[in-house]
Amino acid sequence: MNKEKFLNLFDIQLSGLCPKSTVLLQLLHDLRGTILQDLEALLRDSRIGDVRPLLARLEALGLLACRQGFWACTWAGAGVANWRQQLCWAEYQMPDEPVPLPRPGENGNELGPPCSKFRAALFAPGYCWCYRSQAEHSLVLPKLDLSTSMKSWYQTRLYNGVISRLNEEQMREPSLTFS
Ligand SMILES: [Zn+2]
Repeated sequence: MNKEKFLNLFDIQLSGLCPKSTVLLQLLHDLRGTILQDLEALLRDSRIGDVRPLLARLEALGLLACRQGFWACTWAGAGVANWRQQLCWAEYQMPDEPVPLPRPGENGNELGPPCSKFRAALFAPGYCWCYRSQAEHSLVLPKLDLSTSMKSWYQTRLYNGVISRLNEEQMREPSLTFS
């Protein structure tokens, strides 16, 4: 296996799948999971044939899981399906630019580790591989500044409130100052 050829772990996993398994994984990802009977009914007139061996193989690879008859992508399976779409969209939208890559801990479907560098998830327009919107990346610093200034503004208000209340009390009860 030529490691330099691969761009990330999902790329390696995707390259090991046959075309039928790839389509099946993508379909289950897009459906957000389904039961076997529905899947078979859906694919009855397709050329995919018996889906059970394909499901078993994808499960053995850790890309699908079956719970109580419901087949769905695992975290890694979703990552591979998203990576496949990423490659398709990159070829279509930005053929001359490098493909935005996922980082470890990211599959494009669940919130990843903290991130300040937007890497377009082309399969989810406006979102990063870390599952945050583009706006959330650009707001990282201003957000901190805002919360700090809000805090000091609030503290000032609170302080002024206490002072003015004390003043009011003193105004109402001038006898206190003469006692
Ligand atoms: Zn990000």
